Amino acid sequence: LYINGQFVEGSMLNQWGSPSPVLSILVSTAALLGALFAIDRFVATGKIITKVAEATSKDVDVAVAAAHKAFETTWGLNMGGAGRSRLLAKLAQLMEEHQQELAALEALDNGKTFTWAMDVDTTFAIDTIRYYAGWADKIHGQVVETDERKLSYTRHEPIGVVGQIIPWNFPLLMMSWKLGPALATGNCIVMKPSEFTPLTAIRMSELIHEAGFPPGTFNLLTGYGNTVGAAISSHMKIDKVAFTGSTLVGRKIMEAAAKSNLKDITLELGGKSPNIIFNDADVEQAVNWAAHGIYWNHGQACCAGSRIFVQSGIYDEFLSKFTEKTRSLKVGDPFDLDSYQGPQVSQLQYDRIMEYIQSGKDQGATVHLGGDRVGTEGFYINPTIFTDTTPDMKIVQEEIFGPVGVVIKFEDEEDVIRQANDTVFGLAAAVFSQNITRALTTAHRLKAGTAWVNCVNQLHANVPFGGFKQSGIGRELGEYALHNYTAVKSVQVNLGHVM
Ligand code: NAD
Repeated sequence: LYINGQFVEGSMLNQWGSPSPVLSILVSTAALLGALFAIDRFVATGKIITKVAEATSKDVDVAVAAAHKAFETTWGLNMGGAGRSRLLAKLAQLMEEHQQELAALEALDNGKTFTWAMDVDTTFAIDTIRYYAGWADKIHGQVVETDERKLSYTRHEPIGVVGQIIPWNFPLLMMSWKLGPALATGNCIVMKPSEFTPLTAIRMSELIHEAGFPPGTFNLLTGYGNTVGAAISSHMKIDKVAFTGSTLVGRKIMEAAAKSNLKDITLELGGKSPNIIFNDADVEQAVNWAAHGIYWNHGQACCAGSRIFVQSGIYDEFLSKFTEKTRSLKVGDPFDLDSYQGPQVSQLQYDRIMEYIQSGKDQGATVHLGGDRVGTEGFYINPTIFTDTTPDMKIVQEEIFGPVGVVIKFEDEEDVIRQANDTVFGLAAAVFSQNITRALTTAHRLKAGTAWVNCVNQLHANVPFGGFKQSGIGRELGEYALHNYTAVKSVQVNLGHVM
């Protein structure tokens, strides 16, 4: 745990000084039996990597107190924007210096390939921190004209102590999306990473420490959702909670916030994103993007293009090329530089995905490709294509969060837009067409927080991201994310109005 600028006994951090972090954190199974430690596994083999401190609700209280103290003394309104900017820029620089190490930890912990972790997770996380370093000294309100005897202006003040709860699918990236805007705007943080993937968050705490953030500004509590996560979301002295994870847990967070101190919330939740490919699309490109859309990060992406709608004129050609493309994706060891897809993150997730595949079969869909395990060790699943689905099937309606796509034939534009919007989610959508009018009018009619045209899964530090409907509340990234972490105060000054 990292609380009040100190690494509390129990974390494995001190073993990580060597240039080979992957080896240095391997510990013997015998040492893993302490009651307050959570076990972390290498998902490619299922073998134990290390033990990680397990926080309790008491640790949450200590971290919250430290965060409040920092907010009132060294951070909050006490540190100017230039100071916050300098520290965030220093953190980005340290992340860059340790990029390979962070990518290796991510591959080890999550199972994503080292190559993707280098090219996407760590690169984008560094960009995000650097982007918000740029914002830290540009947070300001407005002067609002009323009349000549009054001066009215707004201040965008930090909210206070924010709880941040993040998932396992992009551990470092989700951490950076939360941390960047919260620190740039002067808030203090009590963060909980996923119990499945705490390693990069722990290493980041060291880098935050090294960058020189005042003690208590950022606090990390590793542990479980139903203990630490629940204590954060129901804490009376946490002013806001920002959550990324499943819609199911998002509801619990909202309920806990309402039942405790009515704390402010932002939620980034699940999705079942449609990917619409019209007859006039560039088929080769649509195939490549569609594969990236559903198989990237093993399908464990909230915005995964899991419902692939293809117009009848190109359906056969698309399906045949998409099948070929899917077959070509190498599933294997995350540290093999040729691997496209590593193992799923956990036994639990593996079982969930296999249950969905079974339900697709039971409900009458056709497994066009895949649908089975790869090898006998680790949680590897073959990239899977379903066809012959109907709109009511679970595999069409629910988020599978695995490398499983459904390919659905459609005839006309109205019908596909209706089907695409027929979901409780609204995170992202994509449309492929070389007709700019069709592409844009469709993009505008899709009920989703992001609409991609002739591409998928494109994310940038400066472009907002978040969900319509049950995919969330609030926007991350870009200038929009700053609103999540500031409270607007109106100041009205009397310049001579007499009562
Ligand atoms: P999850 O909801 O199971 O867990 C997310 C976090 O919440 C973890 O840290 C977990 O420990 C914690 N948690 C669990 N129970 C809790 C409780 N009762 N109170 C407080 N915290 C609790 O999600 P996951 O399985 O880690 O991640 C996958 C989900 O995240 C998917 O649904 C995916 O779509 C979503 N996701 C969304 C986005 C987005 O930006 N919209 C991004 C990434 C992932």
